[in-house]
Formats: sequence, C-alpha cells, structure tokens
Amino acid sequence: MMYLKECPKCHGDLIAGEDVDGKFLSCIQCGYMRELPVEPRVDNSPYTNGETFVIDAPVATKKRRRKAQEAA
Ligand SMILES: [Zn+2]
Repeated sequence: MMYLKECPKCHGDLIAGEDVDGKFLSCIQCGYMRELPVEPRVDNSPYTNGETFVIDAPVATKKRRRKAQEAA
C-alpha cells in the first residue's frame, strides 16, 4: 500500500510496512517513519482480545499496589 505525497515532512510518498511491533508508514524520500495504531476491527480472531497491545509494566504495578492496600 502506498500513500502518495502524504509525508508531513517532505510531502513524499509513504509506503506501508509491517513488523513484529505492528504496522507503520515509511517515507521513501526522507525516511520519515510513523507507527500506525493497532486496528481493533479484527473481531473474528481468537488471538485478539483487545488487550494484546497493553505491554506497559506500570499498569500491572499499579494494580498490584492497589491490591496490597486493600489487603492491609
Ligand atoms: Zn518524507
């Protein structure tokens, strides 16, 4: 997939790519790169429960701390 003249930096052509982190757009003229948000429209996939992209540790830490306070 290509997006002609969509680059915000040089108005060059963006080309869509994909890697383990997800999809991204890359400018073939200046090298500008933009990650695309995870698309939540895949509703028939058993691997997509809407939380697969939540990989930040602080969230789990916050949860654990609250649980400890409740117990105390
Ligand atoms: Zn560019």
